[in-house]
Amino acid sequence: MDLHSGLPFWMAKNALYNQFNPLDKDVKVQVAIIGSGITGALVANELCGRGIECSVFDRRSPAMGSTIASTAQLQYEIDVLLCDLIKDIGEEKAVAAYRASLQSITDLENTFADLGIDPDFRRVPTLFLADNNRGLRLLRKEFKAREKHGLPVCFIDKDKLRDSFHISAPGALYNDTSAQMDSYKAATALLEYRRKKKQLQLFTHTEIVDYKKTEAGYLLYSDQGHQVSCQYVIIAAGFEAGRFLPKPLMKLESTYAVISQPLAADALWKERCLIWNTAQPYFYMRSTEDNRIIIGGEDVPFRDPVKRDRLIRAKKEKLLRQFKQLFPEITFIPAMTWCGTFSNTADGLPLIGPWKTGDKMLFALGYGGNGITFSMIAAQILANLIEGKEDNRIKLFELSRLL
Ligand SMILES: Cc1cc2nc3c(=O)[nH]c(=O)nc-3n(C[C@H](O)[C@H](O)[C@H](O)COP(=O)(O)OP(=O)(O)OC[C@H]3O[C@@H](n4cnc5c(N)ncnc54)[C@H](O)[C@@H]3O)c2cc1C
Repeated sequence: MDLHSGLPFWMAKNALYNQFNPLDKDVKVQVAIIGSGITGALVANELCGRGIECSVFDRRSPAMGSTIASTAQLQYEIDVLLCDLIKDIGEEKAVAAYRASLQSITDLENTFADLGIDPDFRRVPTLFLADNNRGLRLLRKEFKAREKHGLPVCFIDKDKLRDSFHISAPGALYNDTSAQMDSYKAATALLEYRRKKKQLQLFTHTEIVDYKKTEAGYLLYSDQGHQVSCQYVIIAAGFEAGRFLPKPLMKLESTYAVISQPLAADALWKERCLIWNTAQPYFYMRSTEDNRIIIGGEDVPFRDPVKRDRLIRAKKEKLLRQFKQLFPEITFIPAMTWCGTFSNTADGLPLIGPWKTGDKMLFALGYGGNGITFSMIAAQILANLIEGKEDNRIKLFELSRLL
């Protein structure tokens, strides 16, 4: 599948992590990870850090799937609001999922800091705007749910929003626990760190086209006719993981993003908050280290890449209009536009773990708008599973809940 098109900013900003190392013989490894995006990289890093032998296989150059198109906002709030998730899966599980998501931002921060990697990770607050009175009612409900469970949240009324943030909206939720980064830089830096330490083998341009269960684990078959024998296989294949799933579980969507030319630092909005809103589909925005603005959203159900790409120009104009409405005084000169495919699940939660208890094919699928925080959680859960350690979070994200 063609996962994105147009020119994702990160592709122009970063030098290509120019690895070309197709699998050219049969190999044996304890854990084979399929996918070298931010998920595969975080999983590989976690396993290497615990001394578990692993290799990564990717059909493309490293991290050139969704990871290079990601706007990489790291927020604890997931696509399904806490007040709705409580209705869907019960209070205990919903709150635990939100807490796990909150913790994962600090875990990402610590992961990079511990290794001395700098993927432009920056702590920024989040402002979640009501787009109309219906949105305001929703935010009030959401505020109560989050406050009741001790999750970080403040309510900002219309007057304060106008006076402090120069934003005209009926109200907003605010928290100062979010972050943003460059997920391509993060993934490639993690892979390079472990590769340099000789803890990781990275096979690029190697598609895993088939697999067979064996007594010891799994046998994987590459497109070039080579075999990988492994005890565990981790599917970090992003939105192309369908061939490994026993039934289709993802709802694919297309999303659009535009980045501005750099602005003067003082031309940006207060605290450079991540901003999103209650509209459906939602509008979101962030800034970059070089004072650009990224705006995104306008999601539509994905049919095929050609139809998705045809909409780029119209979606760009719509996003620009939404930005203008929010910040009429900021001049946004578009520099690059791109679109990508991503996926949701019915409850907004990721798919982490085996399909059936005890199976050695483990999924690390961070589906949803918060894919990257879910990738961090997946890395820890799967490493614990392989080490035979208990991890209560598995019950929240196990695949069998969607059977
Ligand atoms: C425009 C856009 C904006 C986004 N914004 C955000 C955001 O603000 N915050 C956030 O958290 N998330 C966001 N997301 C989602 C986030 O980008 C994804 O959750 C994340 O990048 C997924 O990473 P991944 O490693 O799981 O998948 P990918 O990056 O797609 O990596 C999967 C890899 O697996 C490889 N692969 C697939 N099948 C095979 C196979 N059979 N054999 C070998 N290799 C294979 C692919 O080549 C690919 O490199 C956004 C996504 C898009 C498109």
